Amino acid sequence: MKEYEIIVGLETHIQLNTETKIFCACKADSWEAEPNTNVCPVCTGQPGVLPRLNAEAVQKGALLAAAMHAEINPCSIFDRKHYFYPDLPKGFQITQLFEPIGKGGYLDLYMPDGEIKRVRINKMHLEEDAGKTKLEHGQRMVDLNRGGVPLVEMVTEPDLRSGEEAAQYLSQLRELLRWIGVSEADMERGHLRCDANVSIREKGSTAFNTKTEIKNVNSIDSVRQAITQEAKRQIELVESGGKVEQYTLDWDADTGKLSMMRSKEGEADYRYFREPDLQPVILSNAEIEAIKASLPELPYARRRRFVEEYQLSAYDAEVLTSERGLSDYFEEAVALYAKEPKTISNWMMNDMIRLMNDTGKSAKGLVLKPAALVEIVKLIDDGKINAATGKSLLVKVEQTGKSPATIVEEESLGLIADADSLRKQIETILAGAPNEVAAYRGGKETLMGWFVGQVMRATRGKADPKLTREILLELLKD
Ligand SMILES: [Zn+2]
Repeated sequence: MKEYEIIVGLETHIQLNTETKIFCACKADSWEAEPNTNVCPVCTGQPGVLPRLNAEAVQKGALLAAAMHAEINPCSIFDRKHYFYPDLPKGFQITQLFEPIGKGGYLDLYMPDGEIKRVRINKMHLEEDAGKTKLEHGQRMVDLNRGGVPLVEMVTEPDLRSGEEAAQYLSQLRELLRWIGVSEADMERGHLRCDANVSIREKGSTAFNTKTEIKNVNSIDSVRQAITQEAKRQIELVESGGKVEQYTLDWDADTGKLSMMRSKEGEADYRYFREPDLQPVILSNAEIEAIKASLPELPYARRRRFVEEYQLSAYDAEVLTSERGLSDYFEEAVALYAKEPKTISNWMMNDMIRLMNDTGKSAKGLVLKPAALVEIVKLIDDGKINAATGKSLLVKVEQTGKSPATIVEEESLGLIADADSLRKQIETILAGAPNEVAAYRGGKETLMGWFVGQVMRATRGKADPKLTREILLELLKD
């Protein structure tokens, strides 16, 4: 069998998390609303109405362009794309074709093997969403709540080479969208939707062969599975003497199967022309510079910096930068206790992330603020409490909102660091174990662990371990 290469391009629709829709004052997010209750004459396409552009959508679209290293267009223009479908009552969609908000750009994918793979962006423009139709009781129903919601359509060049790479792209794009705050990117709610173009070619060839388009690959897993499956189908087809035809396929996430929707016969003619009811979107140099300046440090730059600046492992840096709030939390904590970034990282990686999972809160939403976490780490470092108490303190601070020191005081959780009182307790323990003491003195020094265990049991773990050892060594000398 010949060796084949898989060629994938992804088309994504990103719902911007603006307050209102792109051309009217209806709420942009109406996930929970009853059908057709979040609509007005503009977004239902009534005659005689005029669209009014939402400045927030332009700002967020431009910020995304900056994050994708694209050129922000100083003069972008809206066009009408004509087609007929029940979820589009005006008979055209307002979108951008000739002068989109962003030009060029790329996303660098950080692959699990450490390689960086650059995926170029072919198209990035602002547009309005259509409504949706669904089949209910045998009837096709139309819901226009989603009509007019601001979207960025972003299409990659055919730079991806496998279902896995496409899944990485989608997952890292989702992370970026949340990081810069332009979209909730919740795929289950359709905030990030994806179609995939798939073709194959013999390895070494540079030609592009006929591609098929897979619709509705709306989860990371779906993207991986659907593309892998479709590439396999194409390879088997070609190997058995067949020819790939230009189909549109539908992915059914429930059954994990692809089905043919229709064959594609050339490009539809959408009769694009400039939207006469909207002015060009002009962004001055100063505005563009301000948008670029407002871009936060991006996840991968921060990841690299965490490794270099704080000597974290690549894995720890990856986890801590998986969400912007978590990485901000880490830096805030480290700023308060610069000596121990690795210790802070360990506490966050283990106990704090568990606390977040248990409470369903984000790093930002925790009652346990960075200062409280640092206070706990310091209490342990100073020998005031043991690590187990530290772990329980995390939970108690979260539940009560009290400071760690207050809880230690109130529940007397502190270690017994008072040498005199500890010495008295240890003397009592040794007096009760004459055989072990004799054996130890006779040379069985491995009994030290047993003695320490006895002290810990008697003090319920609250004896300072270092001090305990010192006192034991002294008292057990003959
Ligand atoms: Zn409306």
